[in-house]
Amino acid sequence: MKYWKKLNAEQRLNRVQQALKDNVDFSKDANLGYPASRLDEKVFTNESLFLREMPVLSTYIANPNHIGCHTFGTSEFAFKGTQAIEQEVLKMMAVDLFKIEEDQFDGYISPGGTEANAQAIWIYRNEFMKKFGVKVDEIVILASEDTHYSIPKSANLLMLDWEKVPVDTETRDVSPEAVRGSIKAALGKGKKYFIVVANMGTTMFGSVDDPAVFTDALKEYQLPFRLHIDGAYGGFVYPFGDFENQINFTNPDITSITIDAHKMLQAPYGTGIFVCRKGLIENVLTSEAKYVEGMDLTLCGSRSGANAVAVWVILTTYGPHKWYEKISVIKMRTNWLCKQLDQLGVTYFREPEMNIVTIRSECVPEELAHKYNLVPQTHDESNQWYKIVLMDHVEIEHLKDFIQDMVSCEHPNPS
Ligand SMILES: *Cc1c(COP(=O)(O)O)cnc(C)c1O
Repeated sequence: MKYWKKLNAEQRLNRVQQALKDNVDFSKDANLGYPASRLDEKVFTNESLFLREMPVLSTYIANPNHIGCHTFGTSEFAFKGTQAIEQEVLKMMAVDLFKIEEDQFDGYISPGGTEANAQAIWIYRNEFMKKFGVKVDEIVILASEDTHYSIPKSANLLMLDWEKVPVDTETRDVSPEAVRGSIKAALGKGKKYFIVVANMGTTMFGSVDDPAVFTDALKEYQLPFRLHIDGAYGGFVYPFGDFENQINFTNPDITSITIDAHKMLQAPYGTGIFVCRKGLIENVLTSEAKYVEGMDLTLCGSRSGANAVAVWVILTTYGPHKWYEKISVIKMRTNWLCKQLDQLGVTYFREPEMNIVTIRSECVPEELAHKYNLVPQTHDESNQWYKIVLMDHVEIEHLKDFIQDMVSCEHPNPS
């Protein structure tokens, strides 16, 4: 890891304070032109020493705007200090975690995974239209039926169709036959250009798609495609295991990745991360955005620089090794739960390197699902699954209670 390093509290605070000094300071300098200021002074004071020692909260109050994209061309000068911190976060992700070559990526911290996924699909749709003069109805999204709803949402916004690839009900895998079937169905509807979204951890099952199952079939048919990885949920879990993760930029077919910091990383909401290879993001340039310095290449406009600082502080507090340890503990708890369920003869799905356990609904009494707030696949009678997500706060103690209740339901006490 070249960029992602563990720092001590003093180093982290110094780095962020320096970044804030490099920004325009709304409480001191004369800034007449920006429709921006620090957070309202009556509500958010930064007088207490306590706050000044909290790097994320002091950034929050200073209120830097990270509008635009800071890996490409110039950016709004006023916030160059904290923008540099965002660039560091993106390097930790793109170069260190997902193995892209130095300076060969663009990206930004988006309001969430939904926007990061929409950004990817928007880029590829426009690329196909510009490069090949394709009509919008000749482009299709290819992704499994377990794919997050942000994909159909993006399809709707961008006027694209989604060809849903069925998955195996037990393994949640997409098979080569299923992919071929979906490709044929799409071709039959006049589709010629494919935007593939492969999951690195689906929301309901944590299942991880093998991107090659999609790309091998598309290559077999000699069809043009782009491949995006949705690691919104799994990006901070799946790559941290005792195996060689292949789902990264060493695969030349992968051109973009979404990873959310506001799920497993426990950053505040508003911290989706989008990274893509160089030469792509220009496809969504809005040339009319003239008052903002630099080029407008993102779906959202204004966004808080405090979000970038929050992700940076979390990543440097742990460092890659400590993060690996944290995820290992969570995976061990997941193993523990699976072992108990095996002993009870309960049917469930679990992707080996993930921390989601999805249980067949007929194995869980409804009152227990309610008591433990298990999330159903659908909120109606057709529901077949409940999931347990092993987040940081879910400890063996809680799981033990759940298992105990499961046992009591199976063998009700005659008293
Ligand atoms: C949560 C999630 C998203 C959407 O992320 P938001 O941050 O809620 O917008 C997209 N894909 C997957 C797989 C997710 O789990």
